[in-house]
Amino acid sequence: MSSSKIVTQRKGDRVDVQVIGFVGEQTDLFQIDLRDVKHLELNLAHMNYINSVGVGGWVKWTGRFTPDMRFTLVECPHLVINQINMVVGFIPKWTEILSFYLPYACTDCNAEKSLLMKLGTDYEFASAAAPSKINLPEKVECPNCKAEMEMDVVPSKYLFFLNRSA
Ligand SMILES: [Zn+2]
Repeated sequence: MSSSKIVTQRKGDRVDVQVIGFVGEQTDLFQIDLRDVKHLELNLAHMNYINSVGVGGWVKWTGRFTPDMRFTLVECPHLVINQINMVVGFIPKWTEILSFYLPYACTDCNAEKSLLMKLGTDYEFASAAAPSKINLPEKVECPNCKAEMEMDVVPSKYLFFLNRSA
């Protein structure tokens, strides 16, 4: 399997990175020069797989981050949310998850669609003062057959990360 493609854009002390494809042993992601970087943002929309070696490398990489660097994640797909939920230390505590995908499926025709949920509009993390919040749409219509779609994950498991303490 070919490794990921990493598209990096540096603007002053901010670095934006797009991770495309498969994260395994060979990825340039963990080699990005983060000296003097104050804000690292990863767009993970097109990350489509991570194997156990990739998870190990990822945990080691983010484990070196310090809270003086803002670390934000956008468009986290299902597979990344699963890692965040399951792997202790996959992301540092101060990581800001600014948006993620919520998968839906059609029980009539098996079509799939993911909704992009955005922090502040669609969800809030739990805090000392309040529990986590999520605004789910009343109805998600199948793009293919117009039937009502169902959430394709178990909400209590998938949304577990919203309760992680900052
Ligand atoms: Zn359908």
